[in-house]
Amino acid sequence: MRVLALIILLVVSFLVIKSFKRKQEMKRLTKAKKKKVDNIVKCNVCGLHIPEQEATINRGNYYCCLEHANQDNLPPAA
Ligand SMILES: [Zn+2]
Repeated sequence: MRVLALIILLVVSFLVIKSFKRKQEMKRLTKAKKKKVDNIVKCNVCGLHIPEQEATINRGNYYCCLEHANQDNLPPAA
């Protein structure tokens, strides 16, 4: 019976820790989401506004897609 009590204790503490961690994770995620929304950048080719998260970055410029990033590529110095 002692083993059973030990197992129950382990399961209960595991569940408590799990729910606690989930709460913290939720807090962190909502904070991160707020930050992401604030960061809107403009495509250097078409001027489309997109979240920095989804932007393609090339040579310090932002682009809405890979195609525009390649299109705006400066030719290599001769
Ligand atoms: Zn674009």
